[in-house]
Amino acid sequence: MYRLILFISVILLQSVGFPAYSREQDFPRKGEGIYAFLRRHNREGEAYYAEFMRLNKGMLGEDKTLRKDVKYTIPPEMNTPATKDRERVSAGNRSINRKVMREPLFGKDYEYYNILDNSLAGADFYLVSGHGGPDCGAIANVDRHQLHEDEYAYDIILRLARNLLQHGATVHIIIQDRKDGIRDGLYLNNSKTETCMGKEIPLNQKKRLKQRTDRINKLRVRSRSHYQRAIFVHLDSRSHKQQLDVFFYYQNGVRASLNLAENMRKTFSAKYEEHQPGRGFSGTVTTRSLAVLNNTVPASIFVELANMQNINDQKRYIRADNRQALANWLALGFMRDYKDSK
Ligand SMILES: [Zn+2]
Repeated sequence: MYRLILFISVILLQSVGFPAYSREQDFPRKGEGIYAFLRRHNREGEAYYAEFMRLNKGMLGEDKTLRKDVKYTIPPEMNTPATKDRERVSAGNRSINRKVMREPLFGKDYEYYNILDNSLAGADFYLVSGHGGPDCGAIANVDRHQLHEDEYAYDIILRLARNLLQHGATVHIIIQDRKDGIRDGLYLNNSKTETCMGKEIPLNQKKRLKQRTDRINKLRVRSRSHYQRAIFVHLDSRSHKQQLDVFFYYQNGVRASLNLAENMRKTFSAKYEEHQPGRGFSGTVTTRSLAVLNNTVPASIFVELANMQNINDQKRYIRADNRQALANWLALGFMRDYKDSK
């Protein structure tokens, strides 16, 4: 009899106590940030990030890092319009949206990706990371590591490219490095192996910049898209000593370029408000006579995401999670701009 009661109460405990709370949880892997953690669990996008923050309130380390001793709750799968779309499409033609895409440039950990939605279908992007090859750009010394601008700009560009592809865009990665994919570490190794889509990058600055703008202008002629945009990404603002926000430069007299810069600034401002309430965002939109802006035919912007030397800014680019956030916001800015342009 006692045994029966015990047996029944165990059953009761199991059925009442556990199933209702059986939310999926996991420990983070070494060095993993929130975006990487979510990606590993197939939860990509800003909506999952927001839900993760809500579910794991008070569980994070300093500066929103993940603590290795904490089991974090994974947000349940969302029934977003994108998911519904995907299901509808896959019911009609299984092969279209379930297909996993591959881009080897993204490296072993990131080369495979899914299409999340088609909100950027018909848009063409030319993504250019600053410097590369014989020119490493700005240099910062952090924790006895020498950090080069071109490596960080490239990592952000790759993350941005992957993001845009996931929304159905056509993406041209102008500066490429076959060896370095998307890297989740803090200190990215330096290399001189970057090319301009396979062509050696010349040392001479004029030739170096002309090579990349020529490349874009040539690709542009072949494209049939009515919406083509180029972005040049840097992390080396020179004149600002104090902590700075993101600078967006547009092409003088080019309406579409100004609109893009404005949409980027608005997106970043909203994201800053969401992620660091009350901090305020002082990013600016101005025009600047830069060779790459003057010589690129598609509407273009030049973005300075951080100052390599600035201690506060270093947090913004050294942590992979922050590089992912910057890439996500640039992608959102493009989505906003593309919608606007229609
Ligand atoms: Zn630069």
